[in-house]
Amino acid sequence: MSKKAYRGKDFEVYFDSEKCIHSGICVKGMPEVFDLKKRPWINTDGAPTDKIAAHIDTCPSGALSYRYLSSPST
Ligand code: SF4
Repeated sequence: MSKKAYRGKDFEVYFDSEKCIHSGICVKGMPEVFDLKKRPWINTDGAPTDKIAAHIDTCPSGALSYRYLSSPST
């Protein structure tokens, strides 16, 4: 299995290492959530969920995805 889940309070992020093309967009654009020096390297509660979702949408490979565990905050 190359896909891992990173669960937060009301949001879950998925990372598929086989799809990642190592562009670095995730870590450069949102280091408070995506930090390769930390374990786990994705801090799902590190920023507002709508901001994380918008940033994940910029991942060029589709390696990152997400789902809301409850209604998105407004
Ligand atoms: S933005 Fe996507 S493709 Fe780029 S390093 Fe992050 S997960 Fe990999």
